[in-house]
Amino acid sequence: MNLQTKIASAASEAAEVLERLGVRQELWSAGSRAVRSPVTGETIAQVQDTSAERVQAAIEAAHAAFLTWRNVPAPRRGELVRLLGEELRGAKADLGRLVTLEAGKITSEAEGEVQEMIDICDYAVGLSRQLFGLTIATERADHRMMETWHPLGVVGVITAFNFPVAVWSWNSALAFVCGDSVIWKPSEKTPLTALAVQALFEKACARCPDAPEGLSAVVIGGREVGETLVDHPKVPLVSATGSTAMGRAVGPRLASRFARALLELGGNNAAILAPTADLDLALRGVAFAAMGTAGQRCTTLRRLFVHESLYDAFLPRLKSAYASVPVGDPRAAGTLVGPLIDHGAFEAMQRALADARAAGGQVTGGEPVEVAGGQAAYVRPALVEMPGQTDVVRRETFAPILYVMTYKDLAEAIALNNDVPQGLSSSIFTNDMREAELFTSARGSDCGIANVNIGPSGAEIGGAFGGEKETGGGREAGSDSWKAYMRRATNTVNYGRTLPLAQGVKFDI
Ligand code: NAD
Repeated sequence: MNLQTKIASAASEAAEVLERLGVRQELWSAGSRAVRSPVTGETIAQVQDTSAERVQAAIEAAHAAFLTWRNVPAPRRGELVRLLGEELRGAKADLGRLVTLEAGKITSEAEGEVQEMIDICDYAVGLSRQLFGLTIATERADHRMMETWHPLGVVGVITAFNFPVAVWSWNSALAFVCGDSVIWKPSEKTPLTALAVQALFEKACARCPDAPEGLSAVVIGGREVGETLVDHPKVPLVSATGSTAMGRAVGPRLASRFARALLELGGNNAAILAPTADLDLALRGVAFAAMGTAGQRCTTLRRLFVHESLYDAFLPRLKSAYASVPVGDPRAAGTLVGPLIDHGAFEAMQRALADARAAGGQVTGGEPVEVAGGQAAYVRPALVEMPGQTDVVRRETFAPILYVMTYKDLAEAIALNNDVPQGLSSSIFTNDMREAELFTSARGSDCGIANVNIGPSGAEIGGAFGGEKETGGGREAGSDSWKAYMRRATNTVNYGRTLPLAQGVKFDI
């Protein structure tokens, strides 16, 4: 089903929302970089790239802010993040709408992204009283050994278009309570949501006497602006989210100056449909994970391995879900699949489908959907029955393509799950406890996320988020991810009157 609604202008609505969110008009009306809405294809704003001098100045200001902020006790730093959470709660509908207008997400997913920001703020407020180190048994009498965690410095945050606001908050809510300052380089495709978040952050700072000037800044532009953060000696950590190609460029540059890299890169996520699976539950899990966000999540389900005994029963049901999923204006009630980010994404999808056909794939869907007079890139999600895991299946195409294959036994399915360069997310649908445990064991999925009876997409902030291999190895959000934003010192204190040396070394002078 296609929702052939008459598309309302995105430009005037974006202007109204930006105004309500408190973004100064000169920031989005006077620059040379056009911001396009994927919803209508219209230009909705003009922003100005940040000049090299201003990027340098922002880093210097953030460094100066860090020198003050690190002295504020962590629970008081948490108060700023609590206030930010309050601002986000008040602005949830407007910021969500801006995410829809700028990134094309359907309303519930756009507001869900803002909810994720609120959740990580709540999490970080609690964390601000829990930044603890260990006390460790020492081999020397009258000594105490412990570790302490200290603020790190300026954190560079580079983000992708598809989670235009949540990824900043996963990094920044933790960075702020850890005593760091933040410079954010959003995707050049989604600068407006970044400007809006910065305006909300400034409102929170105005209510927080402890917050120094320059604690957070947004710098706008393409890769060159990102490279300035990557190369700057006063930026000890860069958290970069985006394609594996970006990580391949950024990782070695950071390593060359011994800076820390937190890389969150491409995924190629799989699900295994095992013989005991609850097929109704699996159908919904697969449909959301593969078609939700128009296939533009790093955790989108891209490969489905169906046990050969289920294939004939399951595939017709999945195909009918693909044929009927409502594609259209993401603002309209009932739409489940909004637009691709741009025509370039549509063309990359068509190239992948051509490669899949050439490799023997049977394609259902994938055709353009006429929604906004051809100005925007709407597409019916594609289901591709593949004879095997060929090259096109092994690479990430950032569009709604689900490759479906069969398997005979679980060892083969796990091997196929792991036989790709990426290692972000994975799942198994099964009611067999042995299969579920094997999949999540050391011999199971090699991904950073391995789920049972849930699709691979849609993580909660309480867990550590990230993946292995070409996904980059970084972890963000919950668990002990905060440690990436601090430096660790091991302290040994001698409270005796003698000086015993470690390992029994004698050095008597
Ligand atoms: P992209 O790699 O094109 O851009 C991401 C960001 O990196 C942008 O801000 C861009 O300007 C910047 N950038 C690009 N090259 C750079 C360089 N050499 N130096 C510094 N900065 C540079 O990615 P995209 O198209 O915006 O997003 C889609 C990709 O992001 C997909 O591959 C998706 O899987 C991935 N992603 C991963 C995660 C994760 O958590 N693992 C989350 C979201 C998106």
